[in-house]
Amino acid sequence: MTSDGKKGTIFSGMRPTGKLHLGNYMGALENWVTLQNDYNCIYCAVDIHALTTLDGATDVAEIKPNIHDMILDWLAAGIDPEESLVFVQSSVPEVMTLHTLLSMVTPLGWLLRVPTFKEKVRQMDETEESVNYGLVGYPVLQTADIILYKADTVPVGKDQVPHLELAREIVRRFNNHYGETFPEPQAKLTEDALIVGLDGQNKMSKSLDNHLELADSPEETAKRVATAFTDPQRLRRADPGRPEVCNVYSLHKTFSPAGDIATIHEECTTAARGCVDCKRHLAASINNYLESFRERRREFESRPSYVQDVLEDGAKKAQAIAQKTIQEVYEKMGLA
Ligand code: SF4
Repeated sequence: MTSDGKKGTIFSGMRPTGKLHLGNYMGALENWVTLQNDYNCIYCAVDIHALTTLDGATDVAEIKPNIHDMILDWLAAGIDPEESLVFVQSSVPEVMTLHTLLSMVTPLGWLLRVPTFKEKVRQMDETEESVNYGLVGYPVLQTADIILYKADTVPVGKDQVPHLELAREIVRRFNNHYGETFPEPQAKLTEDALIVGLDGQNKMSKSLDNHLELADSPEETAKRVATAFTDPQRLRRADPGRPEVCNVYSLHKTFSPAGDIATIHEECTTAARGCVDCKRHLAASINNYLESFRERRREFESRPSYVQDVLEDGAKKAQAIAQKTIQEVYEKMGLA
């Protein structure tokens, strides 16, 4: 428990991919909003991480507008800049200093063994020799992100637990070499709210274009939902459907009122409802669910410098913490 009655300090970051979708919201953002009640929260748009997998000038040019769109979504979802630190990773350059210093206590073998590193190399159609050095050191930068602010808790899904274990190992090594400096960050396991995309097969994702953006207009949402895959065996309107294999039904279970679910099931299995109407119903439920989010987003969007002001204020506060940490690290390492 901290002196202000909070359970600890949370750090979490998101790559600036632009406007967020429902999967991002249910998978992370909603949880971030709730965590503000119990923790001091530090939420960071990790633009330097984005550079590890970008190389074209066009991609780089997208980072700034993407940050703006993503931060609008954070704020509209309920991230409160009065309560939490909200800033962009590169606006606190001390993180790069700590990254370099931590890389001196991190064996290369630890980094080459990270399963997601191997996976990324494969996806990028590269070899371990040809990928950029930044990608190999990604977990070291991630560790620097967390401990620069002495965060003790990191919300992670089950698949990210090995990453955090690596961060803990780096911290242990640093503390062993130079004396107790950083808390070992603990994982706060978050439930993986898996939202399947409109293709009915994969996790909702922008790159697969199977997503529903939070900031879309109700009409755009309805248009996108109309393209959703349903029960592939239901070829004609008169065929009874199988809700249990239909993603539209599983989305209804998340977004439609609980009282509607049994009716949808019954009407689908008896062919009393067609898929077109069922999707209209789903779009209305999603639009209803997002109504207040969208209203808040429009309000923040109408204030031209609001996002910039939030980020500048967040960076100032974050940098004050970061400079103290770097000073301490320099002293412990006999630098300066
Ligand atoms: S009626 Fe609805 S739940 Fe049934 S198959 Fe069509 S879209 Fe899916």
